[in-house]
Amino acid sequence: MSAQKTSRPAPAIILFGSPGSGKGTQAELLRHYLKVPHISTGDMLRTHIDAGDDIGELTRGLLKSGKLVSDDLVNHLVEARIAEPDCDSGIILDGYPRTVNQAAVLLEMMQRGRFKPAVIHLMVDYEKIVARLTGRRQCPDCGTLYSVTTHPPQVTGVCDLDGATLVPRDDDREPVIRERLNQYDMQTRPVLNYFRQARAPVIEIDGAAASPQKIMRQICDSLVSLGLIEASIVARDSPASKASSTP
Ligand code: ADP
Repeated sequence: MSAQKTSRPAPAIILFGSPGSGKGTQAELLRHYLKVPHISTGDMLRTHIDAGDDIGELTRGLLKSGKLVSDDLVNHLVEARIAEPDCDSGIILDGYPRTVNQAAVLLEMMQRGRFKPAVIHLMVDYEKIVARLTGRRQCPDCGTLYSVTTHPPQVTGVCDLDGATLVPRDDDREPVIRERLNQYDMQTRPVLNYFRQARAPVIEIDGAAASPQKIMRQICDSLVSLGLIEASIVARDSPASKASSTP
């Protein structure tokens, strides 16, 4: 079942928050629950980097140092992605928009594409973020995320799903994490005010007060109150417990 019938605007769920606030985790839970695609600009860029293509070559150094890539580039990537047919019934955006320019371009795209945006702001204290990210490990083959403290694999350092050796993400070293938080403060945090001024709904959620599944339910309840998803979707038994959760 998709989140939305095609007769009304499709939800564009914008997961907003600092690096490590749980956007990727919530995006994956919501994707399983609402059956709409998860669009992560960070994942798209890493796919280009792994492929070694022109976009990858252009952006590799920026990701490694925790700096943002150009607005034009990410705007084009997102515009092309949301034009694909699987986005017709809704989208979950993770890591985009990250600047006021990106937010303005996104709101234009939303109007053209009959999407109705809702911003979910996941708030987490920065010291918790640093602890979360330095303890994060990823499977280089399937991308599954683990945490050495809160969500360890069954065998230390080994992916539960395919047995590959887990590695930290390139940009999860403390100096790079601090730079990502700095970029967030300078360039991304002001986007929240931009959304408020543009009268896009902004929902504030404590991103550290409950389990990922409970946070996902709070997000869904807010989306129902905004009329973005049907109450019947949230009322049924949550399949989220079966969905793969990430730290
Ligand atoms: P996180 O939110 O944990 O920093 P992401 O995977 O979203 O991780 O992003 C990783 C990196 O990819 C960012 O530090 C930045 O270099 C680049 N990036 C991702 N999304 C954007 C964007 N919307 N605009 C500019 N750069 C981006």
